[in-house]
Amino acid sequence: MAEIVIRNLRKEFGDFTAVQSSSFKIEDGEFFMLLGPSGCGKTTTLRMIAGLELPTSGEIYIDGEEVGQRPASQRDIAFVFQMFALYPHMNVRKNISYPLVSQGMPKHQVAEKVAEVARILGIEKILDRPVGGLSGGDRQRVALGRAIVRDPKAFMMDEPLGALDAEFREHMAEELRALHDRMGATTVYVTHDQLEAMQMGDKIVVMNHGVIEQFGTPQDIYDKPATMFVADFIGSPPMNFLRFHGEVHAGASKVMMHHEELDVPRLMEPFEGDMVFGIRPEHITLNDSGSYRGEVLAAEYLGTTQIVTLKTASGELKARIPSDQPVRAGEFVGLEFNGSTVTLFDNQSGRALR
Ligand code: ATP
Repeated sequence: MAEIVIRNLRKEFGDFTAVQSSSFKIEDGEFFMLLGPSGCGKTTTLRMIAGLELPTSGEIYIDGEEVGQRPASQRDIAFVFQMFALYPHMNVRKNISYPLVSQGMPKHQVAEKVAEVARILGIEKILDRPVGGLSGGDRQRVALGRAIVRDPKAFMMDEPLGALDAEFREHMAEELRALHDRMGATTVYVTHDQLEAMQMGDKIVVMNHGVIEQFGTPQDIYDKPATMFVADFIGSPPMNFLRFHGEVHAGASKVMMHHEELDVPRLMEPFEGDMVFGIRPEHITLNDSGSYRGEVLAAEYLGTTQIVTLKTASGELKARIPSDQPVRAGEFVGLEFNGSTVTLFDNQSGRALR
């Protein structure tokens, strides 16, 4: 097991900076997600931790030891690529034993380790089958088996479920998380899928253009987004943004938005200028008494809830309400915002005002 500390880590490819000075800490045993859109620098960060890419500057500490410039072979980290990378001419047992045999481990010890890993993964029955004929899920379990068999300090996983269809992907995500909970090994996992990150991660780093936008628990990131990028990237539908010009005083918990006084969480710092009122769809209630009004444009039925699109003086927004609440396209309704859940942003920097 391992604690991993990243300090001012940076990677340049020629004059392009793929990762800008990043710092974060991965606690021992954590399931840690690197999340962001394509090209944001997640894989490069992961490869630097594993030693497959050397940093341009900055440090990587594994259990207190600085390893940033050491080769992968000296870091004791297992890298799980798309999990289908197996040796096709070998059976399951040989695929799993391979890392131990190539280390020169005595035969009886190899047999014990493989039996243990097969038990953990529930694949005892297929040990002597050739990998060629296995189902996708079993191939994935075998690939995982090969990674966990040598008890590395930590696992690096780069979109391991990327190639799977949605339903199976969810199933494997649960299995992977359960496996992690049983083994407790530090795991760093790259994904561009915000739902996967929220469901599986203990902590999440959200990256954009090589920069860390936020680092925290899934709940922190969802409830207290540090930037508009995070608020927009996380959640489906994402947070609504209503733009307005105004002023808030330090300690105040109200803002005037388009002549309406609205509750917001108390701000520590005063602010004046172009602001954004951020509210998640599920924190909006539709009722007749709300003085902030909007016109219903459309409703999308989703089972227990529906997503209603509304046109307001500040722009379009989406509300998630119970599906048994009747709404009609074209009608005007009052909107109520749950003030304690609002995030105000500085429109220019995109940063949350606190
Ligand atoms: P994806 O999910 O698409 O892989 P990512 O967030 O993992 O995205 P990276 O693979 O880390 O992104 O790449 C970050 C940026 O660095 C991209 O613009 C990519 O083109 C660039 N990059 C990555 N590796 C190299 C390299 N060896 N040489 C030059 N540019 C690179």
